[in-house]
Amino acid sequence: MPLNLSTTAKITWCPGCPNSQILVAYRQAIEELVNSGSLKIENFVVCAGIGCHGKITDYLNTNSFTALHGRVIPSMTGIKCANPKLTVIGMSGDGDSYSEGIEHLMHAARRNSDIKLFIHNNQLFALTTGQASAASPKGFKSKTTPAGSIEEPFDIIPMLLSAGATFVARSYAGDIAGTKRVIEAAIKHKGFSFTEIIQPCITFFDERDYFKDKIFWLDGNGAENIEEAIKLAKRDTNRVPLGIFYNVEKPTFEEQLIS
Ligand code: SF4
Repeated sequence: MPLNLSTTAKITWCPGCPNSQILVAYRQAIEELVNSGSLKIENFVVCAGIGCHGKITDYLNTNSFTALHGRVIPSMTGIKCANPKLTVIGMSGDGDSYSEGIEHLMHAARRNSDIKLFIHNNQLFALTTGQASAASPKGFKSKTTPAGSIEEPFDIIPMLLSAGATFVARSYAGDIAGTKRVIEAAIKHKGFSFTEIIQPCITFFDERDYFKDKIFWLDGNGAENIEEAIKLAKRDTNRVPLGIFYNVEKPTFEEQLIS
């Protein structure tokens, strides 16, 4: 039977929201993986957290589960442990997994749980109308930080690499072809894969112009060691590298649990 991922749900993201571009890349990646025989759609399940990103499960006809705020990762780990043959994907945001659920993120990386996480990073809590998150830059003004945030944001990629993540990548929502490539590689990875997708919130913190001249793609499949991977991923006010920073294979949490 031909694959039909369409649903009748009305898209309620703000018109022009880059989440729609992630949806296109994600859909194309699944279609390609299924059509090439790399993925069985009946064995595919996506979990979403709470946030604008979470609506993505309504717009694609796959098995899905919506978790409590910040609890997308333990939900994924539970599903994978209960049925290891499933391909378990997670959609989350910086509010959901850097602020609310940061402890789960670190432990998933440490365990090398065989789950694939995609973070829609818009640098704030968008669904609740723009409060500062753990990814908001210092000085960011919002309803909860009217004088500007006095906190530094997490630099999440070095933290995850140090914790033991075996696949770490970054993409940009506005580049659909590049995001599709990274999503496919992340889903194919055996072990914990982490992909941060920069997704400017055009309503509460539109940084599309900021990123326009700074993003660039790295070649290759990542560095050979963690120290080099951290250097590859390093972003600053002038440059934001995209691509796969690290990609190695190690025994997964579920393999070791079952053996
Ligand atoms: Fe997208 Fe921001 Fe609107 Fe949410 S609030 S749908 S992230 S533009």
